[in-house]
Amino acid sequence: MLTLALSKADYLNLAYLGAAVLFIFGLKLLSSVKTAPKGNMVSALGMLVACVVTLFYVTGATAISLAWIGGAMALGAVIGLTLALKVQMTGMPQMVALLNGFGGIASLLVAIADYLRTGAFDEPIWRWDGLAATGLAVLIGGVTFTGSLVAFGKLQGLKITPGRPIQFPGQKAVIALMILGCLALTGVLIAEPESAWAVWAIVGVSMLLGILLVVGIGGADMPVVISLLNSYSGIAASMAGFVLGNQALIITGALVGASGIILTQIMCKAMNRSLLNVLFGGVGATGGSPSAGPGGGQTQQRVRDMTAEDVAIQLEAAGLVIIVPGYGMAVAQAQHAVAELGELLESRGIAVRYAIHPVAGRMPGHMNVLLAEANVPYEALLDLEQVNPEFEQAGVALVIGANDVTNPAARHDTGSPIYGMPILDVDKARSVVVIKRSMRSGFAGVENELYFMPNCGMLFGDAKAMTQALVNAVEDM
Ligand code: NDP
Repeated sequence: MLTLALSKADYLNLAYLGAAVLFIFGLKLLSSVKTAPKGNMVSALGMLVACVVTLFYVTGATAISLAWIGGAMALGAVIGLTLALKVQMTGMPQMVALLNGFGGIASLLVAIADYLRTGAFDEPIWRWDGLAATGLAVLIGGVTFTGSLVAFGKLQGLKITPGRPIQFPGQKAVIALMILGCLALTGVLIAEPESAWAVWAIVGVSMLLGILLVVGIGGADMPVVISLLNSYSGIAASMAGFVLGNQALIITGALVGASGIILTQIMCKAMNRSLLNVLFGGVGATGGSPSAGPGGGQTQQRVRDMTAEDVAIQLEAAGLVIIVPGYGMAVAQAQHAVAELGELLESRGIAVRYAIHPVAGRMPGHMNVLLAEANVPYEALLDLEQVNPEFEQAGVALVIGANDVTNPAARHDTGSPIYGMPILDVDKARSVVVIKRSMRSGFAGVENELYFMPNCGMLFGDAKAMTQALVNAVEDM
């Protein structure tokens, strides 16, 4: 008879396998707005299983170590919860940048701690693969940590980290040398495991490397960098998993690393750029052209001012209205008013679609999240490829707080920092109405030539107040 005798290690690996299945299933659910909350819960359950099993089986937790671990977890939970509750939706990219950075430094610390612990034995047993993983975890963790801090500073508009890319001659060569240097130091560590200095040298060089890599990137490329750093934090965690010989950490790190790199690719494609061009292109170094009009002031071209009543007449006659939300809708928290306007128009027999640009707002999925919160039907949200052919049939393209993602200069102005970025073809609609407060530019710092086109009118004001005014004007008709 076949008997199945499982060891403690087998049970542990089975539990890790279960956790990995939950992570993968959770990721699958996260790919749609409707199922995303469930995906979050499923992934969190996987993490709970992995943590509990690790605590009780791997560490053979004693009362004292549990107290330390529990105390650290409680402190982290309080800080995390406070930050998560306080952060505005528009500040999410900065928050994600910080979280990536903490992930990186955690992997770096785990790798160093394990190296020091092993070295403290009378006769340490070094494994070459463990040492290689230590070098890589420290290298990638260090880059992720300082790179994420710089990205945080840029997005937060801190003076110490200017938003424009900072580049100097030979930057690429210096970066390449630093990477090769860290790999050579890892080689030294493998050859002579007692060389603790090599570990500390990798710490220093990698942290400098993280700063150099990210200061050279600027403006509209920051979302791609955040996603890439997210991927790095996963790879660093995976390396820390190899250091500890912990399957769960290897798998979760690899999943984060892979999904981060996939998102990075999707975003590069959305901006029509290669990853190398994002990392080393220095796009935006020259800054944007000056902005004008109310609150701005230099361009002599004139724009057409509209009132809510003018716009309401156009909306009533439109047949198809495509709403284009952007960062300004998020700032004004206008999503509920936008949903109300959409419903009102639909109730009057006007078809309404929402055009979602992949980098509208300040984080991937920013517009989807806000509109889902306002209960806009998911089917009405169309992405770039789906909606662009529809603009020619639209009576009105109503742009609410979006700017860069609608700028036709991206199609033809080779000197523009956003040249090559696919945009929403709002200018092809019969009429375009733009709600914003002034003629100030958007994130990329460039003037939008859309505003001066003959079929474009401006409804100046706060996105929420103006959308509400449109609701009232349509109701009054
Ligand atoms: P933009 O940043 O291009 O423009 C937003 C516009 O909203 C501004 O011109 C501003 O004009 C207006 N605005 C701000 N507040 C209000 C308000 N209260 N009411 C009405 N209007 C307001 O936004 P887009 O969404 O078009 O493009 C996103 C940009 O951000 C892209 O360049 C993208 O690369 C970048 N980015 C994207 C990230 C992502 O992951 N999605 C992350 C980081 C950057 P005014 O001041 O005149 O009102």
